[in-house]
Amino acid sequence: MTTLTKTEGAPVPTGSDPFLSVRDLYVRFSTEDGIVKAVDGLSFDLQKGQTLGIVGESGSGKSVTNLAVLGLHNPASTEIAGEITLDGQELTGARERTLQKLRGNKMAMIFQDPLTALSPYYTVGRQIAEPFIKHTGASKREGRQRAIEMLTKVGIPQPGLRVDDYPHQFSGGMRQRAMIAMALVCNPALLIADEPTTALDVTVQAQILDLLKDLQQEFGSAIILITHDLGVVANMADELLVMYAGRAVERGTVKDILTAPQHPYAWGLLGSMPRLSASVDEPLHPIPGSPPSLLNPPSGCPFHPRCAFTSEVGGTRCADERPLLAPGRASACHLTAEQKHTFFTEQIKPRLG
Ligand code: SF4
Repeated sequence: MTTLTKTEGAPVPTGSDPFLSVRDLYVRFSTEDGIVKAVDGLSFDLQKGQTLGIVGESGSGKSVTNLAVLGLHNPASTEIAGEITLDGQELTGARERTLQKLRGNKMAMIFQDPLTALSPYYTVGRQIAEPFIKHTGASKREGRQRAIEMLTKVGIPQPGLRVDDYPHQFSGGMRQRAMIAMALVCNPALLIADEPTTALDVTVQAQILDLLKDLQQEFGSAIILITHDLGVVANMADELLVMYAGRAVERGTVKDILTAPQHPYAWGLLGSMPRLSASVDEPLHPIPGSPPSLLNPPSGCPFHPRCAFTSEVGGTRCADERPLLAPGRASACHLTAEQKHTFFTEQIKPRLG
């Protein structure tokens, strides 16, 4: 798409080529109602062994971005521009055969809902073994052995017996573990986990996140963790990217963003998280309004219809001028660094407790 212009600052170069590099990514869908601008000029890097958390509300472009990395969009209705490079290999524009060789092997995805990702017609063991057999040329017997090994790794009791169970015979937590086993069976160098714990209760959530951390240490994989839950990324990610309306609005380390966020949207996300220390009658502080339609996104800063700080910027600048994300630790907002610091410290932080 030659008509699209560069809008986002690239991350600061680290000195070595990133394992995954996404530059000026645009993803647009043709629908009956018009063109949906799902991802609008996004750049980020990820190194091996690191975890990048991507946070934002539904429709912010988190999952669409990662489906683009995996090459899973329907080319008939999707327009993708920009550069995605994995370990030096260009993925945008790569042939489907090339992407098929990489998917399940060098890169894999854990989906939010194992019931839709696992087929009810095949045993769990067969589904874990299949990508292993396909990518390594192993025999069926070796595949079954590998499936048992992976079920052991992800903590399924009696793996030698459970390997022949069907998904409906597993509990929700066990199905999620089985899907992790399936994603990791070929030791992928890039693992994308899309809301991997949303459907699980809190104790199982913690177990699954611990498991991902252990497996990352063992395999040295790079992980992208997509979530709307800042609590999940707090324990798991090294860096965070906050997305809104298909754009990156803030980027930094987990510590930076959780302790001193700079963007009013990130303030809203933090403020809307329930706190254990809050009294029972203390109200939550949801972000007012709803995420914008990406068929016709707001002009200027896409957050301006919901932002309480537009008058601090002054005039109609927030509605007229798109704020850019500078390289490195940055937020895409017209407030000055001093204003961001003051408003966060004086108005937002006291509410967070
Ligand atoms: Fe709010 Fe304006 Fe900053 Fe956007 S640019 S987040 S509307 S203050």
